[in-house]
Amino acid sequence: MLPLYRDAKYTDVPTGDKQDLFDAVKSDMRYSHELYGCYECGICVAACPSARFYDFSPRVFAQTMAREDIHTFYELLNDSVWDCSQCFSCTCCPRQNNPGGIITIMREVAVNTGLQSAKDALRAYSRIIYKVMSTGTQVSPDMLQPDFFPDWGPDVRDVSLNLDVWRRAIPPETLHTVEMAWDVSEKTKLELYMIWKLTGNLEMIESVDEGLFMILEEVMEELLDEHGYDIDDYDCIVGD
Ligand code: SF4
Ligand code: SF4
Repeated sequence: MLPLYRDAKYTDVPTGDKQDLFDAVKSDMRYSHELYGCYECGICVAACPSARFYDFSPRVFAQTMAREDIHTFYELLNDSVWDCSQCFSCTCCPRQNNPGGIITIMREVAVNTGLQSAKDALRAYSRIIYKVMSTGTQVSPDMLQPDFFPDWGPDVRDVSLNLDVWRRAIPPETLHTVEMAWDVSEKTKLELYMIWKLTGNLEMIESVDEGLFMILEEVMEELLDEHGYDIDDYDCIVGD
């Protein structure tokens, strides 16, 4: 079967390689709850915010998987899979499909198998991943630098110069931070590190960005060590 796309980019990739990845998605324990066949009605497309801004369609994911079209699957796995905003509005499907859930599994397979396209797509997020995983909080105020947001005009420069003052003006004390979005207790950080270690998230990071993995492991080991834990005593539980 030819891929849906006339401008398919991966026609040289061996069919067996594509099939292995397709099988990896289908064998995921969540998969049978995400797809029950597709009417091709397009209701999911109407609900999908990404479809408004990109050449992207949740219907194509459902349709491709239902037809077992491994060539189109491979194109999606290396490209459109990163255009989904994971909002799950597509669960309005009258067939009870969850195209966003299929995409979640596809992303995990792309990352776990170290696809170059996944590494390229996620490279820009290294800084955010580092922030979230090392501090337990999301994008921090000190990331608000004029160089990163030139289109925001002179206000960003003014705010960045007096960031600590602005932050101290916020009523909750946990928000009086500049390097973190909010104060996270050591106990919470420890719990998060253990969750990321035991659920295989660190291994996923390693397959897309080894440098980031090494930095994160060092940060986590240090804190766990301080509290009497040895991270190597705990094995990843995914797949057990
Ligand atoms: S996934 Fe559901 S909503 Fe989308 S086209 Fe198929 S049947 Fe319709
Ligand atoms: S989860 Fe993805 S595919 Fe589904 S509606 Fe949201 S952006 Fe679209």
